[in-house]
Amino acid sequence: MHIITDGLNQTNSSWQQQLNDLITQPAELAELLQLPYAAVSQAAGDQFELRLPRRMLDKIEPGNLDDPILRQFLPQAQELTSPPDYSSDPLDETSTNPVPGLIHKYHGRVLITATGQCAVNCRYCFRRHFNYQENRLRGPAWQGVLDYLAADDSINEVIFSGGDPLSVSNNQLARWFSDLTKIAHLKRLRIHSRLPVVIPSRIDQGLIHTLQQAGLQCVLVIHCNHPREVDGELRQGLSQLQRAGVQLFNQTVLLNGVNNCADTLVELSESLFDCGVHPYYLHLLDRVQGAAHFDVDEGQAQQLHQQMRARLPGFLVPKLVRETPGQPNKTWLHI
Ligand SMILES: *Cc1c(COP(=O)(O)O)cnc(C)c1O
Ligand code: SF4
Repeated sequence: MHIITDGLNQTNSSWQQQLNDLITQPAELAELLQLPYAAVSQAAGDQFELRLPRRMLDKIEPGNLDDPILRQFLPQAQELTSPPDYSSDPLDETSTNPVPGLIHKYHGRVLITATGQCAVNCRYCFRRHFNYQENRLRGPAWQGVLDYLAADDSINEVIFSGGDPLSVSNNQLARWFSDLTKIAHLKRLRIHSRLPVVIPSRIDQGLIHTLQQAGLQCVLVIHCNHPREVDGELRQGLSQLQRAGVQLFNQTVLLNGVNNCADTLVELSESLFDCGVHPYYLHLLDRVQGAAHFDVDEGQAQQLHQQMRARLPGFLVPKLVRETPGQPNKTWLHI
């Protein structure tokens, strides 16, 4: 595996060391967590690589295949067969991909697929089949993105998504941000990342500095699915970001066997708000091949959402949404 490194990060590389030392072998995962070897599917791992930072092991109960943290990352044989309505591109992103590296679906904002790399591979990920090779942001592709943005002054927000945009170095981020700052109609920079949750040391001084220097309003949307993913190190990192003026939100995917339980969802909202994070979206699963075992049906989702509303202040209730291709926004499923 190759991580982009340069200057600044070499002196402060603890997150990069963790990223270079992921668990990727099913047999190793089975051994470390005392799981039956047959329970970790090599064939599923061949389709979509196992990737898990070692520090996540502390959050998983050994020997428990139903552990809600493990379930999100465990390659399972069930992934190899999917119902017919599960597709490899459930959101039809290839048709809204005007230039490599950029997806423009919604008014006013574009999404940039900054890198194909993630610190964890979540088995339910809707981009598990996305063609990142054709969407790399090197050289001419990045210039193409800048030209596209400069030519459309209805766009005021750029969203860095992935893969995980925070898997690249701070210097690379700084170069991207500095080019964007020159486009006068851009107001906001948004980063969608799971890295702070799985490797909190990613929130280093260099990142904070880079965001402060960006000259645009900065929004970070983390991706956290279960209260056990929140720990002291994450809390500390997030409070630094908050002090630096970064607006913090969370998105969660509603997952069968992980968080389809009102108590868990309520606790998740509460513990994230303790870290200064506001709930944003609770997503229904995108029907991507290999992820059917995570599906929670719409009726159950709506019931859970009602239970959350009955127990939490309004500002701690995320919007329950599904993404429907062809729609001008995510579809709200509130009843
Ligand atoms: C989800 C998404 C966005 C962001 O939508 P918001 O409702 O603003 O969070 C932007 N572009 C694409 C392609 C998306 O899938
Ligand atoms: S971190 Fe995000 S982009 Fe990466 S595998 Fe998980 S859900 Fe997908």
